[in-house]
Amino acid sequence: RHPRLATNSQGLTRRDYEGVISTLCAGCGHDSVTAAIVEACFELELPAHRVAKMSGIGCSSKTTNYFLNYSHGFNSVHGRMPSVATGANLANRELTYLGVSGDGDTASIGIGQFVHAVRRRVNMLYICENNGTYGLTKGQFSATNDRASKNRKGLDTPFDSIDLCNMAIELGAGFVARSFSGDKAQLVPLIKAGIRYKGFALIDVISPCVTFNNHTTSTKSYEYVRDHNHMIGRLDLVETSAEIEADYAPGTSADVTLHDGSQMRFTKLDESYDPTNRETILPALERYRQRGEVA
Ligand code: SF4
Repeated sequence: RHPRLATNSQGLTRRDYEGVISTLCAGCGHDSVTAAIVEACFELELPAHRVAKMSGIGCSSKTTNYFLNYSHGFNSVHGRMPSVATGANLANRELTYLGVSGDGDTASIGIGQFVHAVRRRVNMLYICENNGTYGLTKGQFSATNDRASKNRKGLDTPFDSIDLCNMAIELGAGFVARSFSGDKAQLVPLIKAGIRYKGFALIDVISPCVTFNNHTTSTKSYEYVRDHNHMIGRLDLVETSAEIEADYAPGTSADVTLHDGSQMRFTKLDESYDPTNRETILPALERYRQRGEVA
């Protein structure tokens, strides 16, 4: 039986979680992100009427049209999606807020909005489809483009890039991840975990712009990202920590057995930022590093 015809326990197929047909360029990484969101929503059996899709302006922000036709949604002005999501959260705390934005929307015009959504712990999953370029206005560098990266004419980016993940961690976000649009096996569990996380969750997805920033000297090209896509965390770690977020009270700990048989202790983050809880994650990552399982 074709996977698209399989149903979940709600009797819905993957097609039921899709939206209108994409008008993005053929091969755009953003359509792969859409496919991962559809898969995650199908597997989580999310009721469409309990979801609010939030976006700003840019090729990335068109993504919310391409999944969950019958959910709530708001396409805000450029960079202002975090404020609209904050207000919607205040009006209705019961919905699942799923924001999709781009690097121009997030790291340039909307940077002030983004940082305050993080520090206010707005309850949402914020996906940044990051291609280092303004695709909608024909390929100018954005603030996330790496200094070493060149444009199509061979000119260097003159500035250091803004790292959204580092910034979100610094501001106390409890769930921060980076992935690649071409790695669906990694991206789907991350999106599922981000949706289930209570608080602000960021997934920075490197999502190549195949039209304007996919040449050999770009560090955001499909080939470059594919060849430098190294996992620094484990999917079972992400899934397990999301379960603990869902099932345990703030401040409590749980010992879990990972797939390789090793034990790890997780402490659920409190709603308020608590460095002593965050530090419990770091020794665990250091253990993985010493065992050569993470870069
Ligand atoms: Fe995607 Fe770039 Fe085309 Fe925009 S211009 S749809 S980012 S490939």
